[in-house]
Amino acid sequence: MKFDVVIGGAGLAGSTAARVFADAGKKVLVVEKHRHVAGHCHDFRDDAGITVHTYGPHIFHTNDKGVWEFVRRFTDFHYLQHRVLSYAGGKLVPFPVNRDTINEVFGVNIATGDVSAFLQAEVERSKFNMPLRNFRDAVVSQVGERLYELFFKNYTLKQWGRDPETLSPEIAKRIPVRSNRDDRYFSDRYQGVPGRGYTRMVENMLDHPGIAVMLGADYFDAIKSFAAPLSIFTGELDVYFGRKHGELAYRSLDIEFETLDRERFQEAPVVNYPNDYDWTRITEFKLLSGETSKKTTVCYEYPKEKGEPYYVVMDDENMAKREKYIAETRILEERPLGAGKVLFVGRLAEYTYYNMDQVIGATMKKVLPLVQ
Ligand code: UDP
Repeated sequence: MKFDVVIGGAGLAGSTAARVFADAGKKVLVVEKHRHVAGHCHDFRDDAGITVHTYGPHIFHTNDKGVWEFVRRFTDFHYLQHRVLSYAGGKLVPFPVNRDTINEVFGVNIATGDVSAFLQAEVERSKFNMPLRNFRDAVVSQVGERLYELFFKNYTLKQWGRDPETLSPEIAKRIPVRSNRDDRYFSDRYQGVPGRGYTRMVENMLDHPGIAVMLGADYFDAIKSFAAPLSIFTGELDVYFGRKHGELAYRSLDIEFETLDRERFQEAPVVNYPNDYDWTRITEFKLLSGETSKKTTVCYEYPKEKGEPYYVVMDDENMAKREKYIAETRILEERPLGAGKVLFVGRLAEYTYYNMDQVIGATMKKVLPLVQ
């Protein structure tokens, strides 16, 4: 069997690439080391009839119309403007920080128009580096030390196992600060979860006569056996290069599921616990999917250093190594087809803290020029 492209990984990056090539008439082989497709957004219906996310909660959100139209070819969506509460100082309050958070935390009653001045005063009495050097600086420069200590410091320590002052200020860009009462977690126009789950969505992406999928198979074996003119790698960046520039860190999680014999567990789909417990957050899945059941299933996330690689670690040491590996990928990406050309796409292979829509967008950007 001859393939035009061999792809390692059937997550969002690999499946997007596979579909784009197949739609353009190419023959594609996708090899996946796990026994399932959909990578870390894999989900399944549990015994309580609730769709749970095997590797922790995934909410799709994007402002990219092209990406939104692409995914909607493969699924309908249960629309959801995602909301999160944070348990801090003995209270459940809206998070990210907005006007209501400030009023509840400080026992004040300030109006929307006065929130900026309030935060400015908080910032002015705080110490941080300017220009911003790290995650702490980025947060404190927006909300001041008191809110940083309450919501961000310990969550970040727990999530990353590292001092927030060693982490990139870029991470803070994921969390907005709002002066109004908007309590959505994301500000994106399009948000939701696939109506019949991510696994089904990815299965539909891969359901094309031009795509063959091998589960439980090794990419490095496959590229030897099927010498295709192009291959695409979506696994860990350092592993591809035999860790020649040193090991990259990937933060992992223990995810504990619990099905409770009651209809509802908590007030929001996700509740963050920055300070009081070993878990970072609890997700109640039926509040994401909109499913009904007499029972409810929740998951607790306990961060850990080793294990299934979920997160890239944005500190100086890992980012410096990343640069060396990315320089190597550029050489392979620029090779002509048939001469050992390899593309590196996705969170792990680009060592980038992408959201799901960014994975799809970045993959399309790399792959589309090759089919046009
Ligand atoms: N974060 C925090 N407190 C929170 C939520 C997030 O300090 O209550 C910080 C923390 O460093 C976290 C980062 O913001 O890793 C990004 O949060 P996000 O919810 O986007 O993380 P993900 O869903 O990717 O795990």
